[in-house]
Amino acid sequence: MPFRTITGHSRVLSLLSGAIARDSMPPALLMAGPSGVGKRLAAIAVAQTFNCLQPTSSAELPRDACGECASCRRIARGVHPDVILVEPGDSGSIKIEQLRDVIDRAQYRPFEGKRRVVIIDQADAAGEDAQSALLKTLEEPPSASTFILVSSIPDALLQTVLSRCPRLRFGPLTPAEVARVLTAEHGYAEHDARAAAADADGSVGRALEAGGEDLTEAREAAQRVLEETARNDDPVRRIGLARALTEGKGTPAEERNRLAVRLRSLGSLLRDIGVLAGHGGPAMLANADLESRLEKLASSYDAARALHAYTVVDRALVALDRNASPKVVADWLLLEL
Ligand SMILES: [Zn+2]
Repeated sequence: MPFRTITGHSRVLSLLSGAIARDSMPPALLMAGPSGVGKRLAAIAVAQTFNCLQPTSSAELPRDACGECASCRRIARGVHPDVILVEPGDSGSIKIEQLRDVIDRAQYRPFEGKRRVVIIDQADAAGEDAQSALLKTLEEPPSASTFILVSSIPDALLQTVLSRCPRLRFGPLTPAEVARVLTAEHGYAEHDARAAAADADGSVGRALEAGGEDLTEAREAAQRVLEETARNDDPVRRIGLARALTEGKGTPAEERNRLAVRLRSLGSLLRDIGVLAGHGGPAMLANADLESRLEKLASSYDAARALHAYTVVDRALVALDRNASPKVVADWLLLEL
């Protein structure tokens, strides 16, 4: 993603662009600022601008990547041999071996690009020993390599590392900027984007996270519905219970999404109840932590009823997908269970 396509941070991006154009980029630098504002994108844009085969130029951005040449595209896809991205693995930390490996690779001249760029995302996830392993390289980087550390908690980096990396500060985006990214790149409708941006503290990452419903809450709501319907046939009470599936504030898109998440959770519990009713063992349960409560439910929901309920949930999800009103779907479902 070239500099000109990144939302916000115009001053910082113009600084980076100018430094590359004048060949005065420091060999190691730290991009610091809140998470989800575009630091990693900016680091990738630096790598592209260095290695672009047809760089562009404008008054604000003396040098920028074209975004379309073979080099730009390979960097964007993460397959350029001279652009190395290091990030935390499944353990949540950056291991010393990962850093030793890039230090080794950085000793050689770039294979095909003009400059090797090593991006260490969430650099604060490297332990002290791993950070120490980097020190010497940050102090005297190989001549054709640039190291970019990216961090939203730079204070967690060793003082010795910080002192070797000039710091570029990325501030939060404005709500309008967050909304623009949500509509342009994440398919949000205009008003949903504005609503999501309003609570996002200037971070696209946070706005996207809020789009994901709380799964624990969804499962609790689903459980409540099953426990009540197991012992209660009164339609009025059941309609009242439908609110457990739809309650919560938000835009229509969020309401729809929330109900869908709760319905999927309901489906998952019903599948487990079916397993228990068919005398399956706990190893087969998706919600094994709820086994004793599911056992209790299985006494009211025998295999046939669990299966029927499961198909009802499935039909409700299809209806929701076809834009049926969440409230109507929830009411119908509760009467059918
Ligand atoms: Zn290019």
